[in-house]
Amino acid sequence: MKNLVILGSTGSIGTQTLELVERFPEELSVVALAAGRNIELFAQQIKCFRPSLVSVARHEDVSRLREAIGDLNVEIVVGREGLNEVASIDADLLIAALVGAVGLEPVFRALQNGTDIALANKEVLVVAGELVMREAELHGARVLPLDSEHVAIHQCLAGHPREALRRVVLTASGGPFREASLDAMRTATVEQALAHPNWEMGQKITIDSATLMNKGFEIIEARWLFDLRADQIDVWIHPESIVHSLVEYTDGSWLSQLGMPDMRTPIAYTLGMPDRLPLPDLERLDLAEIGALHFERPDATRFPAVALVGEVLRRGGAAAAIMNAANEIAVEAFLKRRIGFTAIVETAEKVLERMGPHRVDTLDALLETDRVARAQAETVIEELSL
Ligand code: MG
Repeated sequence: MKNLVILGSTGSIGTQTLELVERFPEELSVVALAAGRNIELFAQQIKCFRPSLVSVARHEDVSRLREAIGDLNVEIVVGREGLNEVASIDADLLIAALVGAVGLEPVFRALQNGTDIALANKEVLVVAGELVMREAELHGARVLPLDSEHVAIHQCLAGHPREALRRVVLTASGGPFREASLDAMRTATVEQALAHPNWEMGQKITIDSATLMNKGFEIIEARWLFDLRADQIDVWIHPESIVHSLVEYTDGSWLSQLGMPDMRTPIAYTLGMPDRLPLPDLERLDLAEIGALHFERPDATRFPAVALVGEVLRRGGAAAAIMNAANEIAVEAFLKRRIGFTAIVETAEKVLERMGPHRVDTLDALLETDRVARAQAETVIEELSL
């Protein structure tokens, strides 16, 4: 039996993880949950999975939640401290499925407690990859992937000598603007950007997929998860989203993991590790039916995020944290229709340009850099929206 903590239980990854817990009651159970503002769904989850500790984002939601769950014996905690408390509870695996840099502190708390992490919240490694991996090693905890590409790479690396690895290739669907002109992208609406062709995901990650910033984050994620050099990670556009990533070995062999674009498969891999959890009712992959798969290199002019990430990795230090903070603010501004679609990555570029090197040796120093970068991004966005 694996005891789970889920941060972000009402989100896309959180609900799919709970679906698997429900399917495998002998293998999986829930000890603590954290959610944001979807109190109605959260109350249902608490009644169904009976965690002993839960946290909500806002004080005003506590009485609403208490009322909704009746006299269940559950401790309710609140806000940032509450989230850290939930993350610190004894468990076998913490599912980090919050969105953005807010997930950073609770992940540290869990690692310090020796709890393994399954990471969907990729910003954690983007912002603090070096610190997170160091902390994990110090406390003997593992950082496992919960992102389809990295789960694919994890499977392709398992049982093979690392010195024979030549490179990994992350695949990207290309998002809704794969074939759009630069002009069309400049004037793209929020609705167009949110219409992802293959994956059902939250808003932030869907916009990041449309700019390819999501793939940029995944490059950084792969760099830390698998201890790769920047020049060992490539990106190919693969519109069918069937090949979830590839690995090339020095003897010319390629390995890849394939599957339907359904997050339940990679989530089941990480939850079940080292066993496989059977999901017989999922839509099966039939390559003979699909017939052809396509691959191409991303267009650097329309998708500057990939090159920007290359620059960020070369710079090192807090550059990735700065890029992430600026991107988070810019995506929010785009969703509120304050800036255009192409201004998202432009904002990240400008903020990086304006901020000098910053320290990354402590979590506090990183969080401070994050705050400064957010303020700088607000300034850039005001200039852009004039
Ligand atoms: Mg992914």
